[in-house]
Amino acid sequence: MRQTFVGHGASRGSALGRARVRLPHVLEVVEEHIPAKRVEGEIVRLHAAIATVREEMFALRERLHGALAHEVGEFLDLHSLLLDDPELLQGLDELIRTGRYSADYALRLQRDRIASVFQTMDDAYFRSRVDDIDQVIGRIHAALHRHDAGMPGVAGEILVTDNVAPAEIAQLQAQGVMAIVTTTGSILSHSAILARSLHLPLVVGAEGALQRINDGDVLAVDGATGNVILEPDANDLRAHRGRVRELARERKQLHRLRREPTRTIDGVDIKLYANAESRDDVAEAHALGAAGVGLYRTEFLFLQRNELPDEEEQFRVYRDVVLGMTGRAVTIRTLDLGADKADRTGLALRDEPNPALGLRGVRLSLARAGLLEAQLRALVRASGYGPLRILLPMISTREEVRQVRATLKRVTLELREQGHAIADNIPLGAMIEVPAAAIALPAFIGSVDFLSIGTNDLVQYLLAADRNNEALTSLYTPLHPAVIRLVRDVIQLARKRDKPVAVCGEMAGDSHFAPMLLALGLMEFSLHPATLLELRRTIRHCDLAQLQSRAPALLRARDRAGIEEWIAENAPVVA
Ligand code: PEP
Ligand code: MG
Repeated sequence: MRQTFVGHGASRGSALGRARVRLPHVLEVVEEHIPAKRVEGEIVRLHAAIATVREEMFALRERLHGALAHEVGEFLDLHSLLLDDPELLQGLDELIRTGRYSADYALRLQRDRIASVFQTMDDAYFRSRVDDIDQVIGRIHAALHRHDAGMPGVAGEILVTDNVAPAEIAQLQAQGVMAIVTTTGSILSHSAILARSLHLPLVVGAEGALQRINDGDVLAVDGATGNVILEPDANDLRAHRGRVRELARERKQLHRLRREPTRTIDGVDIKLYANAESRDDVAEAHALGAAGVGLYRTEFLFLQRNELPDEEEQFRVYRDVVLGMTGRAVTIRTLDLGADKADRTGLALRDEPNPALGLRGVRLSLARAGLLEAQLRALVRASGYGPLRILLPMISTREEVRQVRATLKRVTLELREQGHAIADNIPLGAMIEVPAAAIALPAFIGSVDFLSIGTNDLVQYLLAADRNNEALTSLYTPLHPAVIRLVRDVIQLARKRDKPVAVCGEMAGDSHFAPMLLALGLMEFSLHPATLLELRRTIRHCDLAQLQSRAPALLRARDRAGIEEWIAENAPVVA
């Protein structure tokens, strides 16, 4: 039956395809009642799923061999016992019959009931059995939604899941996934940033999708509006085709702008740099006429692998970015691992209760001997091949810049002595993304050569609102007077002191915000190539002097609504 889920559009593009459902480990199911006539059918559906899981576990047990076969086998045996537990099974039937709950919700209730018994036990071993319950119940839940067991891999499919890690995104696309729908997440998470960079349609926060969508269902996904339609009808299919055509037309029109300057109506040139994390991004940035690379995120070189990239490997990557931009400036950021960019790295990262406030970015680089040094050596060597700047993430004190500069100086001397041809002066810049750095900027602007405002994190830390928490999407926004003022102060001070300043957070890539940033005095934007031409088109319709004359009204806005009003009043008419 046709059904619509409304999430947030996190990466544009339309996709039509079959669903591939990936269920979370622990059930997130909302309370759901079914009519009396569906009760027996629901019980049959549940038992069929349990039978499937039993068969799967049997098959898995048969395939086990090697060193871990014994231990893994014991787990499977325990899980099989749980599956046959009459209390578990009867309890489920009873919940569906008497409570008229859906099988999904009955599983959830039963899981919570059993878990609470285990959790009150004194014995740690029994308490830890909750994980086994979760696994068994999770398997049954997965089987409930798997109608078409014989489906091939994920190629040509739309992944429906609770969340997706940044490092998975590229892998999923390489496997042929056409779009992703998640029930949680925010449009400013790193996963969303990556999806946009890969032109992979992504909808986040599509609540209820995991309960309703089954493997093999047909979905129409609109990554711009955030609409996900289950079993689209003829009108939906027509609308989908229309969107695909419209997108192709727009791409063609924008394509014509790739050799045009980014010049305002009143003749001021604005610099558009590219954010990049891969070779393809760099090639795209070059082809679209970016002024250079404004932010190369090196952490993606460190994710999804078991060993650290050594100096030589890093050097080759950085050198190729510099060569790829053929003489245009390239800004490479040192490692910003931590927070939501921490999945599978060669570095053993400690579990932290508050990773976003933890050993992240430059703090980690300074804490791990050898890490910063190897990266700086690789960067300095790459500077011999073209203009390169080094950018430091998560700077909060002057001391951090001083320490990095000292190491940079030392490795530069060593490399020179070793006969490497390297640039005379490599500019060292700071990300302004920790509020303390923005507020105390007058105290340390003298120690850096350029600045890049990371609004993604600046907003998160200034407003105390996690950038990945979908419950805070209305709070987590740059459209807050505190953000606008702070960004304005940083831009103005940098300009006064003649230090280049860019905005490299996602805010810079959103054309709606361009008039506002221009009004605040911004002359350099760094954004993913995916939206570079769109931004160029918008800026070419802006009158800079007029916008700047309206900055006082923007700064007088008292809340989000006031700022949005200013944006609407000052939006250029884009032909
Ligand atoms: C930012 O915080 O705005 C930024 C560009 O860095 P990242 O998104 O990689 O944290
Ligand atoms: Mg950041």
